[in-house]
Amino acid sequence: METTLENSSVRNAVMLSKDYFKSGQSKKIAHRISVLKGLRAAILRHEDAICDALYRDFKKPRFESLATETQFVLAELNYILKNLEWWGKPQKVNGSLSNFPSRDWIQYEPYGSVLIIAPWNYPFQLCISPLVGAVAAGNTVVLKPSEFTFHTATLIEKIVGEVFDPGHVTVIQGGVETSQELLAKKWDYIFFTGSTRVGKIIYQHAAKQLTPVTLELGGKNPCVIDATANISLSAKRIVWGKFMNAGQTCIAPDYLLVHQSVKEKLVGEIVKRIEKSYGKEIDASPDFARIATKSHFTRLVGMLAGQELLFGGDHEASDKYISPTLLDEPSLDSEVMKGEIFGPLLPIISYQVEEDLEEIILGYEKPLALYVFSKDRKFQKRIINNLSFGGGAINDTVIQITNKNLPFGGVGNSGIGGYHGKHSFELFSHKKGIIRKSNWMELPVRYAPYKVFVKLAKWFKHFL
Ligand code: NAD
Repeated sequence: METTLENSSVRNAVMLSKDYFKSGQSKKIAHRISVLKGLRAAILRHEDAICDALYRDFKKPRFESLATETQFVLAELNYILKNLEWWGKPQKVNGSLSNFPSRDWIQYEPYGSVLIIAPWNYPFQLCISPLVGAVAAGNTVVLKPSEFTFHTATLIEKIVGEVFDPGHVTVIQGGVETSQELLAKKWDYIFFTGSTRVGKIIYQHAAKQLTPVTLELGGKNPCVIDATANISLSAKRIVWGKFMNAGQTCIAPDYLLVHQSVKEKLVGEIVKRIEKSYGKEIDASPDFARIATKSHFTRLVGMLAGQELLFGGDHEASDKYISPTLLDEPSLDSEVMKGEIFGPLLPIISYQVEEDLEEIILGYEKPLALYVFSKDRKFQKRIINNLSFGGGAINDTVIQITNKNLPFGGVGNSGIGGYHGKHSFELFSHKKGIIRKSNWMELPVRYAPYKVFVKLAKWFKHFL
């Protein structure tokens, strides 16, 4: 019975989305601006309720909800609204001599109906931020939030219903089955955020219809601290980036690679910083979130088995609480070092020479983020240039996501494509190349019979 209902809502959503796109309404720049302004007003109106929903879902601290969810999206909206009219205009490019005289331009065209599938870890931001980009580019959207953050997903559906016409943006709630039903339909673009495992499934579905995709996936993000780093400042920035959202951040440092000469000092500073941030009784801190699902809680606690702990290790199943935990030199074969941790466990591994460092990092698939703490510019440069990863920061963690001018995305196993700011607008637009040729001049050299032009053809490289 439930499947039938889901089937009909999925079918309706797809049909409405395609019809709305065909109506041409979503393409009108004035309409895009007006609905995005409406969305901004709705987020401001519901900001407290969004924070409450996030707290009910996994006790997300209010500051983190404002900074990383609502205000983050509002900043993106403001920036896009400021520039959209200009971005939407055809972009003139130089013509080539062979076509002289002509007018040449790139025209941004929306793809059509876009499917967005989101994860639970930043359940508001990761639904709304791609949605803003897709709508700004003139598409219609069907959005499937994660089934694991019910309160936030319900509120998103309400907000979307208040702002958008049916068919312009539609929210479909559901889990894996619903996601698969949606994927079985034909889309003009699929934007997925989630695990690499599911990303591969999405890619296979998209390939069947040759649908273009963006895959925003995860990875095992290394954080390197060399002997020259400012240790107390590094510790402060690592603790912030790692334990925000209880470590459930796709670009959080996954493990530390610290030069052995500064390891002890770094561990001491990290412990001091954890206690300063969350107090001695961390479970009572209003600033530390919980693990979002029971299965992730069990998975993370399982990773502690047989590990040497430097700090933490407390956990409470009834509250899905795991304290910030430092693991001492886990073996690279152990569970915690096999894949992405995605929780508040921080392995600390020391290295002696730079070659060891690269060997460890290169043993994993290309990560979504990489961080290097060092005062040595040459060392920073070697790490950044020699290793492939989605994006990162020198002497800080996570902040690369806050600059709207930087594309946000992975490479290899950590994803395909990058978005935010103008990159979002471009990502959700097909770039149509057009030449308008004048009728008043005509060079004969390209037309058959070619015989007389064969010699001239060797000079074409200078005119094309
Ligand atoms: P997930 O891959 O389990 O789920 C993401 C979405 O896919 C959900 O909406 C879910 O319903 C759907 N889904 C799950 N299994 C499916 C299947 N078999 N077929 C079709 N759809 C399916 O990810 P998650 O656990 O919600 O999120 C955590 C992961 O997301 C981590 O790996 C993290 O690194 C990654 N992530 C990446 C980014 C990024 O921007 N690159 C941001 C946040 C999270």
